[in-house]
Amino acid sequence: MKLLIVGGVAGGATAAARARRLDEFSEIILFERGEHISFANCGLPYYIGREIKQRSALLVTTPEKLRSRFNIDVRTRQEVVEIHPRERKISVRNLETDEVYQESYDKLLLSPGAEPVRPPFPGIDLETIFTMRNIPDTVGIEEFIKKKKPKSAVIVGGGFIGLEMAENLGSLGFKVTIVEMLDQVLPPLDPEMAEIVHTHLRSKKITLLLGEGVSSFSKVRGKTKITTQMGSELTADMVILSIGVRPETQLARNAGVLLGRHGGIRTDEFMRTSDPDIYAVGDAVEVSDFISGRPSLIPLAGPANRQARIAADNIFGRASSYRGTKGTAILKVFDLTVAHTGNSEKLLKARRIPYRTSFTHPISHAEYYPGSEQMSIKLLFSPRDGKILGAQIVGGEGVDKRIDVLATAIHSEMSVFDLEELELAYAPPYSSAKDPVNMAGFVASNMLRKDLETVNWDQLDGLDRSTHILLDVRSSQEQDIFGLLEGSINIPVDELRSRLTEIDKEKTYIAYCTTGYRSYVACRILMQHGFSCKNLSGGYQTLSVLPKYQDQDNSSK
Ligand code: FAD
Repeated sequence: MKLLIVGGVAGGATAAARARRLDEFSEIILFERGEHISFANCGLPYYIGREIKQRSALLVTTPEKLRSRFNIDVRTRQEVVEIHPRERKISVRNLETDEVYQESYDKLLLSPGAEPVRPPFPGIDLETIFTMRNIPDTVGIEEFIKKKKPKSAVIVGGGFIGLEMAENLGSLGFKVTIVEMLDQVLPPLDPEMAEIVHTHLRSKKITLLLGEGVSSFSKVRGKTKITTQMGSELTADMVILSIGVRPETQLARNAGVLLGRHGGIRTDEFMRTSDPDIYAVGDAVEVSDFISGRPSLIPLAGPANRQARIAADNIFGRASSYRGTKGTAILKVFDLTVAHTGNSEKLLKARRIPYRTSFTHPISHAEYYPGSEQMSIKLLFSPRDGKILGAQIVGGEGVDKRIDVLATAIHSEMSVFDLEELELAYAPPYSSAKDPVNMAGFVASNMLRKDLETVNWDQLDGLDRSTHILLDVRSSQEQDIFGLLEGSINIPVDELRSRLTEIDKEKTYIAYCTTGYRSYVACRILMQHGFSCKNLSGGYQTLSVLPKYQDQDNSSK
């Protein structure tokens, strides 16, 4: 067997190593047009922020190590320029000598990744505008910072890379502005979860210009002027363009390999393309979304690595298949951890998949043990059987392990009823006897069992206030601190049983407290006394980050 691999980073290097472990005797050649293989793209922003100090730490492995341990013929600075599928050959350009030569294959594996999107905006080629994909890009940014000593940066695009760059440049003392075309950062999050991130970014002196797409760049008195489609103008010493990536498919396309609906290389579950001798993995391929089964582009390192292993397995005759991508991702935004898995509410709505949502704000570990932090969990699940469809968590300590439990639950097609039953590790420094994941399961299961009806923040405006009454069940002191929703009456939960005469059987009460727990208790009391009550999901805390309610909060204080 002669296996050729195009691309030597996440997918390519993983496939090469796996292939060798499966077959000691095949010939394996790995082509990488860059100087480095297997570098840590995910670590690049942290190198700029000096969190990672040594450039060498970004090199996960070297061509020499791949040669000596795995007997891989590694050819860096060699670009595969054409595939000849009928002859099962590729043409390769040696970028050092410009010489082009051919290499034959039995099987070809493509892992060419995705390139940063660079729309043809006027001024896009200014030397102050950077994208970040690889080590040379990173060194370019590093050298510019060293030489020109910039003090301000505009980040175009508030996705994962944009936010990581905002934090890292911010930590170097830059004045940072994020310009984002959508009205929120981090598109995979739903808006109320993204608002928590907005508040945190602003608290770290990051300026947000949301709902504004960039239209051009120009040079003005040594600075870069950024103009938006809405006509806003800002200037900065440098610009990071991070508006997404596009799968690198030219090689495949030119060879007649079929692409999918979103422009990525189409593969089956064995990672085989439309040509049975050509496999493809990583950011260049279209995956099926684990929840909806629809083709999607989800460029992440974990999926690229797993697909590479599966492709190598199949090439060497081992049955294994890829079940789809959940889009599980995590991000550090200064002191916050932001994570999600599965589908968001936006996506479920767009795909017309029925769903219900629950919001909880549990603490990371037992409150009496010092250092606990609150997190906000949004859970999306099927109204039919409680199957988990997605989760988003924003908080501090412990967000990472909860999202991983939920991602595992999605993978195992568990329901919210299973979350109630999960036995998770507990000691006071780490969790509570009812872990945040159990809590999310309890709340969602209560909803499905009809122990509790809920109202979400975005349904409040649509309620008929002549038949629905907002019932604040917090103590009156808390209202002074956190504010009160307009038109609410206040009966603290502990006084509710003795004040039932104040409740009207003809009305529906929307009970709320800070997190949704006391109002749940209040609803259970009212429901069992024959009153109609719905709980405001996630309580005042879910609302309080939304601009509309922040204004109301201030005015009511
Ligand atoms: P890549 O790792 O990009 O490798 C493709 C390689 O193929 C490139 O080196 C390219 O030079 C080479 N190549 C392309 N065409 C040819 C050719 N014709 N001939 C020879 N060589 C070729 N993902 C996460 O899950 N978590 C993170 O925190 C995260 N952070 C990131 C931060 C940054 C700054 C970047 C850029 C990406 C980040 N990602 C993260 C995404 C992750 O790195 C990618 O999903 C993953 O690397 C994809 O692997 P791949 O093998 O498909 O492509």
